Amino acid sequence: MKAVLYYRGSLSSCNYDCPYCPFSKNKDSKETLMKDKQQLETFVSWVRDQEVERHELSIFFNPYGEALVHRWYREAITELSNLSHVNKVAVQTNLSVKLDWTTELNKKKAAFWVTYHPGQTKESFFVSQCMKLYEQGISFSVGTVGLRSAFEDIEHIRKVLPKDVYVWVNAFKDRSNYYTQEEIERLSRVDPYFEWNVRDYDSLGKKCGAGSNVFYVQGPGLVKRCYKDRRVIGHLYREGLEGLSAERLCGMKKCGCYIGYIHMPEMPIREVYGDGLLERIPTGYVHAHREGEALV
Ligand code: SF4
Ligand code: SF4
Repeated sequence: MKAVLYYRGSLSSCNYDCPYCPFSKNKDSKETLMKDKQQLETFVSWVRDQEVERHELSIFFNPYGEALVHRWYREAITELSNLSHVNKVAVQTNLSVKLDWTTELNKKKAAFWVTYHPGQTKESFFVSQCMKLYEQGISFSVGTVGLRSAFEDIEHIRKVLPKDVYVWVNAFKDRSNYYTQEEIERLSRVDPYFEWNVRDYDSLGKKCGAGSNVFYVQGPGLVKRCYKDRRVIGHLYREGLEGLSAERLCGMKKCGCYIGYIHMPEMPIREVYGDGLLERIPTGYVHAHREGEALV
């Protein structure tokens, strides 16, 4: 089976302090960190074993907090990117850590979903970190939340990053109807697909790959179908992918998050993102420097 696995362990802490984030104030205890490490080791070991089962996996780490500050995540991503039956391994990160370890990645398979937090880092540092990935030909997208206070920073980061780096903007949805039409147009000049994210999609009773070939794995092995539906559908290590997989219609009224609605077959989004769907890189932004042509 070809499957997408989102993975989130017990970690819930971050080295940044974003005011809008519940994990910024959190410090994980030593015990929690050890638990997180063991959970990840179990997961990687399970992934290793899937080669004999002939499963092809794409893996996306979406931690509560920042994972790459912990060695076990860097090692896991490096190993997974070099496994033949793993097609893709991507991670959400603020890209604050040293990046020397990325030379060991399989560049054809590793990818970064990089979030930019203007209040937490200097733009020059952030851009220099991005360029370390760029110069190695490692795929990444850069994005941020479209808060009104961040508009200028968002536009500026778009300007200074190479043209073939996709900059996405996540709509701020804590307040309904937050954007004026002019603002939507303004942010669409940064992210041509911003409007897709502004909307919430009616999803109840509709087909969705979540729970069929897309799974949300929690640290202990419990599996949910998606980021939104809290119901547990089984246990990865007991049931395996075949045991978990079933066609399921969506049970939620709305789906409004990229990591969810991209798995609805009715969305035309797959044609736009192609192989970069998971890490959010539209095909038109495949790094030209990979072909030897810099677009800085
Ligand atoms: S970088 Fe991300 S996880 Fe860390 S505090 Fe900011 S929003 Fe939260
Ligand atoms: S449409 Fe969205 S909310 Fe519904 S199952 Fe799929 S990912 Fe979950």
